Amino acid sequence: MKFGTKAIHAGQEPDPSTGAIMTPIYQTSTYWQKSPGDNKGFEYSRGTNPTRKALESCLAALENAKHGLAFSSGMGATDAVMKLLSPGDEVITGDDLYGGSYRIFTKIFSNYGIKFHFINMNDAQNVKQYVNQNTKLIWIETPTNPTMQIVDIEAVSVIAKANNILLAVDNTFASPYLQNPIDLGADIVMHSVTKYLGGHSDVVMGALMLNDDDLYKRLWFIYNACGATPGPMDSFLVLRGLKTLHLRMKAHCENGRQIAAYLKTHPKVDKIYWPGFTDHPNHDIAKKQMRDFGGMISITLKGADLKETFRVASSFKVFSLAESLGGVESLINHPVSMTHGSIPKAERDKVGVTDNLLRLSVGVEDIEDLLDDLKQALS
Ligand SMILES: *Cc1c(COP(=O)(O)O)cnc(C)c1O
Repeated sequence: MKFGTKAIHAGQEPDPSTGAIMTPIYQTSTYWQKSPGDNKGFEYSRGTNPTRKALESCLAALENAKHGLAFSSGMGATDAVMKLLSPGDEVITGDDLYGGSYRIFTKIFSNYGIKFHFINMNDAQNVKQYVNQNTKLIWIETPTNPTMQIVDIEAVSVIAKANNILLAVDNTFASPYLQNPIDLGADIVMHSVTKYLGGHSDVVMGALMLNDDDLYKRLWFIYNACGATPGPMDSFLVLRGLKTLHLRMKAHCENGRQIAAYLKTHPKVDKIYWPGFTDHPNHDIAKKQMRDFGGMISITLKGADLKETFRVASSFKVFSLAESLGGVESLINHPVSMTHGSIPKAERDKVGVTDNLLRLSVGVEDIEDLLDDLKQALS
């Protein structure tokens, strides 16, 4: 099946008891057993729930994976992957990560004896010099948040496989519509489902997709034992959101392309970060591993201090100033004071997350209204 058909149908059959086309919201914590152990495969909703199961099958199908696991947030999903590790293990990851990922690595898992290397991955070969016998996981985010750097997933996977290291990719920014890391050699794909997959800014959820049966068993054990699993109502909302993922992504990419082109020559814009430009440092890799370039764009404002940046960020009428991304509505975000506040200034400066940086999540509104809004806000 092709992508759009999977987004609408994968994991979903008409309900056997009523014929309902939409998967019912099985709002139950527990399930009747005829005699102990004699049940229909559902015992307790922390571990299994039919609405969530349908969603997990659909999520797996979209990433060309065998298994899917839904979590109550993206961070819950990341937390589960990290719990595969033991004290003494080392992780290689990027130096331009989602702030919450950086926070859980440095403030939680560092305390459990896990060592993290935050490195520049623009050249995948950089990874090699940090590999040693304790390296158990490589964690990639691409495109990165917020400076839209591109990591060559396939090249990193070659290094990971040669050294028997797990490779996990946070695919939140691209969504499975634009990029499928498992096809490029990743072992685990992580999503903040909150963003493009849910798509309507009404659910917080995470997911892991993977192929290996043993790894799935280990992750399912963590999922059930630690319990960060989402409820049936949220699972239903995401199943509904997924049905238009391909249509929404097409519109995000088209609007993104037009807005990137408009901002590129705008006199108030200094730097612009969007992987679709041919002069983006890793444009060729983006072209190779992504099907299009998405609707996430970051800019720096020419000569603007924090006060002026705040003024611009607060003057939009169609874009909303808010954290998060990937919903149908356009959002504008000031990473330094919002999503990336938990990263120390010295680290932020190193990767260009400066006071005058704004990140746009281009929604699917009519392009004329979005361009007019940018024009007035940047005037
Ligand atoms: C939002 C986000 C996360 C965290 O997901 P939550 O659903 O907010 O817990 C992780 N990675 C990226 C790239 C994100 O944008």
